[in-house]
Amino acid sequence: MLKSVAAFERIGEENAFAVLARATELAARGRDIINLGIGQPDFRTPDHIVEAAVKALRDGHHGYTPATGILALREAVAADLDRRFRVTVDPGLVMIVPGGKVTMFMAILMFGEPGAEILYPDPGFPIYRSMIEFTGATPVPVPIREENGFAFSAAETLSLITPRTRLLILNSPANPTGGVTPKPEIDALVAGLAAHPDVAILSDEIYGQMTFDGLAHQTLLAYPEIRDRLILLDGWSKTYAMTGWRLGYSIWPKRLHDLARKLAVNSYSCVNAAAQYAGIAALEGPQDAVRDMVAEFDRRRAVVVEGLNALPGISCATPKGAFYAFPNVSRTGWKAKALASALLEEAGVAVIGGPDFGVHGEGYIRLSYANSTENIRRALERMGEFLTAKA
Ligand code: PLP
Repeated sequence: MLKSVAAFERIGEENAFAVLARATELAARGRDIINLGIGQPDFRTPDHIVEAAVKALRDGHHGYTPATGILALREAVAADLDRRFRVTVDPGLVMIVPGGKVTMFMAILMFGEPGAEILYPDPGFPIYRSMIEFTGATPVPVPIREENGFAFSAAETLSLITPRTRLLILNSPANPTGGVTPKPEIDALVAGLAAHPDVAILSDEIYGQMTFDGLAHQTLLAYPEIRDRLILLDGWSKTYAMTGWRLGYSIWPKRLHDLARKLAVNSYSCVNAAAQYAGIAALEGPQDAVRDMVAEFDRRRAVVVEGLNALPGISCATPKGAFYAFPNVSRTGWKAKALASALLEEAGVAVIGGPDFGVHGEGYIRLSYANSTENIRRALERMGEFLTAKA
């Protein structure tokens, strides 16, 4: 096979999309499917944000924008980060991208090459590993353990760094576990990274506004000592229920920002202009829709966790962030992927098997509680009936 094609053969996928396709197919055949598989808020984008996009179109914003995004949006991002975390960010280092994924795509392309090692969370967002393998770099999983509250362990993460490590990918609050890495652990990690000045950091903070129990999100931007090698990934998809708009942003060190700009120029040119105006309205407008959505996720979290813990063979730690529960199903007698598949085919409940998020995901399934409380209750009931019938 041609070498370049062989690299593409290594690209992986997000199985959540395959599960969604199968769930849709079953529903089209008349089956009643409850979808707890997909990782997107079940809310509409708030009206004032939609109106801003409509207005931008009416006002004639129909052309290209700068590849890095319109200045007013980059300034709004910097102002938002200042408001939320009291950190100063140069709008010139902000890059507006078509969705959070594009930042990881660019960052992994920049650092991945044969011989390089890239550390990534396992279980974790499947695209990290897929992209690392595409570049020919060696993926080095950082185990994310239930007994550690699904947080990164600073000591274990640092122990995996070698002279070949080029990039460390962090994600808190996390997909698929809902884990939030506590500040002292992040402090220790950053302190340890001082001994490894050649290791860049990609911090995926896309769920940064979705924390519970009064936990404050700890951004990696708050550590000036790593700013010259930190890439921050965030966006509008989850916070403002805008997954279909394809709008994200990243903050880059200066030398990398220009490379990211060139990658944009060589591929998508810029993010669609109306979506960028919507992004400004999202950041500068009222934030109550975000608060209401997070409060609703919090209520559903209680229902999911209590319901799962009442099921035979299942135990579920309380997630601290995002909108996922990651119950331990190892005592059900099922392998996780087989259980996920049987739940969809036989019980009409779509969930994702933990192994789709990495080898350390065996023994777990992921449920997204971005669905109505009523549907969540019905799904739990079906799961209970299914497990009891198969016991
Ligand atoms: N990072 C994580 C951890 C995610 O879970 C997701 C989406 O599910 C993304 C990034 C990508 O977000 P976007 O839809 O903005 O590309």
